[in-house]
Amino acid sequence: MTEKKEFKCVNCSVAAAALYRNYGPSVLKLTKCENCKGIVDKYIEYDPVIVVIDLVLMSREAQRHIIYNTEFKSYWKLLIILMLLETYGVWRSDSLFSIALSTLCDFHHNTTGHSTHVALPINLSIPEPWRTDCSGWAHTDKDIGSDLFIWEKDFYVQFLSILAGIVMFISTVHIMMNSFYTLNEAPLKRVLKSFSLANVSLLFCIPMLVWGNSDTPPETRLYHYLLVQAYSFVAFYNVFRVLYAGPRALTVLVLLLSTGLKHLTTFHVTPALRNVMQW
Ligand SMILES: [Zn+2]
Repeated sequence: MTEKKEFKCVNCSVAAAALYRNYGPSVLKLTKCENCKGIVDKYIEYDPVIVVIDLVLMSREAQRHIIYNTEFKSYWKLLIILMLLETYGVWRSDSLFSIALSTLCDFHHNTTGHSTHVALPINLSIPEPWRTDCSGWAHTDKDIGSDLFIWEKDFYVQFLSILAGIVMFISTVHIMMNSFYTLNEAPLKRVLKSFSLANVSLLFCIPMLVWGNSDTPPETRLYHYLLVQAYSFVAFYNVFRVLYAGPRALTVLVLLLSTGLKHLTTFHVTPALRNVMQW
């Protein structure tokens, strides 16, 4: 409980001492911002449903409300649930990452029976030294069969691998944003809160995970997951702009780099973990 109570105006993000003042038991007045003269946080009076809708529409005001002016205690639960969802997608080879993997590593089928291989107009493939990691991913195809226990074990492996990717992502963003010129000092806890908030965009993968089947063409999967990825990118961009108040171009650059590093980490960690567990 050492976190200092400091609120921020949702409109201009200038610090405010309080969100409202009490004038007696039934009189409550919302504080006005000294900088922009607007109401510091109109969302404290709003219905949570409205706040959620504004968050989906990626309103920066709503994001500031959650990141700075609410407790948002359950962010770590959200973090774990979304990590499980992401793991599930990669584990059953049904994610943008899996499509990229099977396209670049040239897999034409996978364990769940549906094809995620997309024909590219140009010939792209994995650099030669990383080829061994490709075979580490392909491992599941031949050897697992129908042994449920190994399937389950592989889920934990993927979970750890996704976790490693996320740790890489958050630390890259945090270190780079703090070493360049940015206006806000962001404590790690607030970074985690912001990350979980933006990561909620993963929920848009659910329709494909639930209704996609072996008849779904890989292109449809690709477009769906690309759309989710684009939405998610904008969500992260907005949240990190709210959090660090860094320059636009820098934020985009850092995000691109850390997203790349995240997937690269997952790509290398899964085969390594499988190796350690000696399959
Ligand atoms: Zn203001």
